[in-house]
Amino acid sequence: MKVIVLGAGVIGVASAYFLARAGHQVVVIDKNPDAGMGCSYANGGQLSYSHIETWANKSSLLWIVSRLITLGFPKKDFWRWFFEFSKNFPSQKSHTNSKKLFEIANYSKQALKELLSNESTLRFNHKSEGILHFYRHQKNFNEAIKKTEFFDSLGCRSQIFNAQDCIKKEPALVKLLDEKKLAGGIFYGDDESGDCHLFTKSMEKICREKYGVVFEYNTEIRNIFTNHKKITGINTDKEVFTANLYIYALGAEGISLLSGIKVDPEIYPLKGYSLSIPCDDEFIAPKTTMTDPENRVVYSHSSNIFRVSGSVEICGLKNNMDKKHINFLKNTVRSTFSDFGNLNKMDEWFGFRPFRPDSIPLINQTKYENLFLNTGHGSLGWTLAAGSAKILADLIPNNLKVS
Ligand SMILES: Cc1cc2nc3c(=O)[nH]c(=O)nc-3n(C[C@H](O)[C@H](O)[C@H](O)COP(=O)(O)OP(=O)(O)OC[C@H]3O[C@@H](n4cnc5c(N)ncnc54)[C@H](O)[C@@H]3O)c2cc1C
Repeated sequence: MKVIVLGAGVIGVASAYFLARAGHQVVVIDKNPDAGMGCSYANGGQLSYSHIETWANKSSLLWIVSRLITLGFPKKDFWRWFFEFSKNFPSQKSHTNSKKLFEIANYSKQALKELLSNESTLRFNHKSEGILHFYRHQKNFNEAIKKTEFFDSLGCRSQIFNAQDCIKKEPALVKLLDEKKLAGGIFYGDDESGDCHLFTKSMEKICREKYGVVFEYNTEIRNIFTNHKKITGINTDKEVFTANLYIYALGAEGISLLSGIKVDPEIYPLKGYSLSIPCDDEFIAPKTTMTDPENRVVYSHSSNIFRVSGSVEICGLKNNMDKKHINFLKNTVRSTFSDFGNLNKMDEWFGFRPFRPDSIPLINQTKYENLFLNTGHGSLGWTLAAGSAKILADLIPNNLKVS
C-alpha cells in the first residue's frame, strides 16, 4: 500500500521505518531541508522510560501558574487546553495516565533494543547508563521518594541515593554538596540517553537506503484535501501528493492543518529551550545523564556536547528566542556545577513540545478512514518514538480498502 507520512521528525521517520519494514511503499513530506529539524532537533536527549509522571499534577500546576505570572497572560486557545489539562489532576486519573505511559515507554525500550539489533548502522551516541534525579531540598526529596513506590509498583526500578552516592555517580555535583544544597537523589538504572537528531538522521538514511522510502524535503504542506469520508490528497507548495493512507506526524507545528479538516488532537505547543555547550579538555562537563526536577531541567552528554534543556513558554507557536528562558537555563547551570567553561560558545535552541492534556500520545485512526495520527508526545517524544511507531505500523492492515 502507498503511505504518505506527514513530517520527518523523530516520530515521522520512526513511523516510516516500521511501515516500510511491513512492506508498504512510503513517502515522507517535510518543509525543512532535512530530517529532525523541528522539535526533535536539540531536545534533552533523555530516554526516560521511568519518568512517567504526567504533567497534570499539583506541583506542575503551581509551576505553570508561576510561569504564567512571570511570563505574561496567554490567549484563549491555551485556556481551552488548560481546562482539559486540569481534568487530569485527580490522583486516580494521573495514576491511570502514568500506567498508560509506562506501557508505551516500556514497549519503546524493547522496540529500540530490537531496532539496534536489526540495524547495525544505526548511530546516535546511545548510552544505557541510567538517569540520576537530584534534589536540593529534603522536603521535595522525601515527596519524590514517596512517589517511587507507585512507579516501582508498575515496574520502574529506582534506587535511593544519599548525597555522597550522588557525588560518586556524578562528581560535578560537588558544588551543591559544598554549598549544602544536595539532599540526595533517585537513580533510575533502566533509563538511557542518546542524541534524538542523530537518531532521526541515521534512521532516515536506513529508511532511504535499505527500505526505499522517499523523502520530499523543502515541501510545505498547505492543507489536507478530503471528500468528508477520506483524505484525497496533500496539498503542498509544490504539488498535490496522493496515497492510499496518510499518517499525521507533524507534531505541534501542524495542528492548524488538522483543525482545517475538523480533527482536534487537543495539542498545545509548550515551547521549551536548550543550550548545547561544546566540551573540550578545559571543560570536561558532567558525564552522567541527570534530571533536576526542582527546576525541571534535564542534562545529557553526547560526544563533545553537554546539553541543558527545559523551561516552558506559553506563547502558541511564536517563533522567537526569548532570552529570559536562555538566561534561566544558564543561571541554573552556573548555580549547579562549578567551572562551567565558556557559556558564550554554545548553541541556543527552542522547540514546541506537542502537548496533550493527559500527556498520552494519540496513535489512532481518525474519523477519516485513511488518516492515522501519531502525535502529541509532549515532553517524551524521543523516549516514546520507537514504540509509538511500532504500535502505529501494527494498527495498519496490509489491505485497507478505502471506499
Ligand atoms: C526543550 C525540549 C526538551 C525535550 N527533551 C526531551 C527528552 O529529553 N526526552 C524526550 O523523550 N523528549 C524530549 N522532548 C520532546 C521531544 O523533543 C518531542 O516530543 C518530539 O521531538 C516530537 O517529535 P515529532 O516528530 O512529533 O515532532 P517534530 O520533531 O516537531 O517533527 C514534526 C515535523 O513536521 C514538519 N512540519 C511541521 N509543519 C509542517 C508543514 N506544514 N509542512 C511540512 N512539514 C511540516 C517539521 O518540519 C518537523 O520536521 C523535548 C522537547 C523540548 C522542546
